[in-house]
Parts: sequence; structure tokens; C-alpha cells
Amino acid sequence: MFGHHYLKNTTTLQYDPKKCTGCMMCTLVCPHAVFRMEGKKAMIQAKDACIECGACALNCAYGAITVRSGVGCSAGIIKGYLSGQEPTCDCACPAEKKKSSCC
Ligand code: SF4
Ligand code: SF4
Repeated sequence: MFGHHYLKNTTTLQYDPKKCTGCMMCTLVCPHAVFRMEGKKAMIQAKDACIECGACALNCAYGAITVRSGVGCSAGIIKGYLSGQEPTCDCACPAEKKKSSCC
């Protein structure tokens, strides 16, 4: 899925190619095709499409990927839906002087 991107450079996704063994798991489990293989290494092709679900880091047995999962807008929307509350990702909104607010 390449059409859907989120806020630029906000994802917590980190990738260390030096640790990558080329097992391909990240390319198989990512729901947004953030990774692709280039030769024997994974590479990030669509970082801003990352929804911080955590599947890649969980399935990378070599510690090449880290991401803070369960945060951000998608998590806020899911939590709001499940709890019947207003969705919030706990982001601060200084302009409106609110403790938390979603865009
Ligand atoms: S899951 Fe980890 S080791 Fe496997 S290709 Fe992806 S980054 Fe490389
Ligand atoms: S956290 Fe989820 S969406 Fe982001 S790169 Fe990993 S698998 Fe893909």
C-alpha cells in the first residue's frame, strides 16, 4: 500500500541495516509495505506509511528494527473505538492549551 502516508517524519520506526540478515520477515508482515528487499538487505521504501503497529520489530529476530508500537493516531483511534470514548493519541496541543488533542 503506497498511497496512504501519514505525517512526515513522525514515526518512531528505526532500522539498522548493519544488523539485517535478509530474512525478509519485515517485508512479509508489514501491512503497509514500508520495507522492501534490495539484494540481501531490507530497506525502508515508505517510512511515512508506517502506522507503528510493531509487527516488523516483533518479527525481526536480529534486532534490526525498533518502533514504539501502540502510540500515535492509529492506536488512539482504535482505543477510542473500543472504549467508546473520544479518540486521542495524547498529543499535546499548545495552540489550544489542551492537555491532549487529536488532529
Ligand atoms: S526482519 Fe530484520 S533481519 Fe529480516 S530482512 Fe527485515 S530487517 Fe532484515
Ligand atoms: S511498525 Fe507496522 S507499519 Fe510500521 S514498518 Fe513495522 S510492520 Fe510496517
